[in-house]
Amino acid sequence: MNLALYGLRSGNEREWLCVDMGISFADAEVPGIDIILPDVQFLEKERKHLKGIVLTHGHEDHVGAMYDLWPRFKAPVFATPFTTALLESKRAMEEGASPIPVKIVKQGGRVQIGSFDIEFVPVAHSIPESNALAIRTPLGLVVHTGDWKIDPTPVAGTTTDEKRMRELGEEGVRAVVADSTNAIRDGISPSETDVAKSLEEIVKNAKGRVAVTTFASNVARIRSAALAAQAAGREVVVVGRAMERVINVAREMGYFAGVRPFRAPDAYTSLPRKETLVLLTGSQGEPRAALARIANDDHPDIELDRGDTLIFSSRTIPGNEKPVNRILNEMIRRGVHVITDRTHLVHVSGHPRRDEMAKLYQWLKPQLVVPVHGEALHLSEHAALARAQGVPEIALCGDGDVLRLAPGPAEVIDEVPAGRVYRDGQILVDAQSATISQRRKLGFAGVVSVALALGDQGELLGQPEVQFAGLPEFAPANEPMENFILDAIYDGLDSMPKQRRRDPEAIEETVARAIRGKVNEVWGKKPLCHVMVLRV
Ligand SMILES: [Zn+2]
Ligand SMILES: [Zn+2]
Repeated sequence: MNLALYGLRSGNEREWLCVDMGISFADAEVPGIDIILPDVQFLEKERKHLKGIVLTHGHEDHVGAMYDLWPRFKAPVFATPFTTALLESKRAMEEGASPIPVKIVKQGGRVQIGSFDIEFVPVAHSIPESNALAIRTPLGLVVHTGDWKIDPTPVAGTTTDEKRMRELGEEGVRAVVADSTNAIRDGISPSETDVAKSLEEIVKNAKGRVAVTTFASNVARIRSAALAAQAAGREVVVVGRAMERVINVAREMGYFAGVRPFRAPDAYTSLPRKETLVLLTGSQGEPRAALARIANDDHPDIELDRGDTLIFSSRTIPGNEKPVNRILNEMIRRGVHVITDRTHLVHVSGHPRRDEMAKLYQWLKPQLVVPVHGEALHLSEHAALARAQGVPEIALCGDGDVLRLAPGPAEVIDEVPAGRVYRDGQILVDAQSATISQRRKLGFAGVVSVALALGDQGELLGQPEVQFAGLPEFAPANEPMENFILDAIYDGLDSMPKQRRRDPEAIEETVARAIRGKVNEVWGKKPLCHVMVLRV
């Protein structure tokens, strides 16, 4: 959910530059929610002073919030051709989204945005056309690394421009705002080319069909899998909308030169097993993606069984272990040969390990390092590493902190609102809103709805109407739950003095409390409770 704001000057002269506008993915902790967006209320208030939005690369955690949030600012957007094409291709999947005009900047290009002079410095990462930003201002040069690693042989996209980084170091870098993702991993991240070789070997030796699942946006990995298939005389079938979309864009941009056209899912059943490699979405166990549906025998075109090979060319993002393991185990039960990065080099991270981070600081020789893009543990390990590299100033800050980079020593000088917003269906809701906590309660203990008809003396007319969902139908001793609820209603009403019975709100409250108490007695859980009082 990356979004950084760089500011210059104060008062009416102030200017903001926004770098990235990403999303985060929700887990089962937030029922019914897939996508989390940054709360941009501060930036909305500052809209007049926002000079532009720069996108470092096309990953969802950097651009995913654009269709939801950009219309609130309508500021100029700057991105490379590939990032722009990906963003545009995503519009078809966003209900009612209007086009976002983008000013295209090539890698290595330079653009003036208000008082910010921005240079796109090419870096290697797990998606083509990733950039660090050299942000030149009257107060100094800041390097915002974006997501990066050092990979001299990246398969698709550029290497990290070491020469340019060294030149920036000579120019004098005030601050580096840098990727912390792999700050707890020693050494150097292997190259995409090492993964390509490993994939080629596995595919060559596979007997039945081969399935490869990876992140839909990992163009290099898709290319490597396709070339491995080609070398082994296999055709490539692509399954999953998100992946098809990225592949179309990448092909148009020339990232699949030398790769034969792919086949649609309906070709799968007619291809001989030994001549098939299928690329699948769903490496994180997403229930609606191709892989989970195949594991559930619920896919119209694709099946995997005994003798086939499934390669997880991906890392399981923390929080997704359960659904991924469920699929993995189901496939193993079927006799599918499952390969993961635990035993084979079938995945590498797109982020720098410690030796790569150290190298960057040797190139840039910054006065100040600000660790970002990681959990607290990663940020603090990153800070220690920068300190060990001799960086004189380190600034640790959190979401919403306003950090002064210059002039003078770095210091948190203010805090602005910076929470989370959930995309709930087509509506954005605040993370603190009652909607989500109610939904959690519903998931835990269900809901009871009761309708009562009362006469003008507060007397009960007829039998109360009771409905419930998510509660056990029968309590112990086979007594219907409804009977306990009815008892609670009568007890609740009886406990009320005559006067109070004229007040519908008091009745609703008392009856609801009685029901929750009674159900808790027999069940051990308190459901949500809705009581409607009708005066007759
Ligand atoms: Zn990222
Ligand atoms: Zn990224």
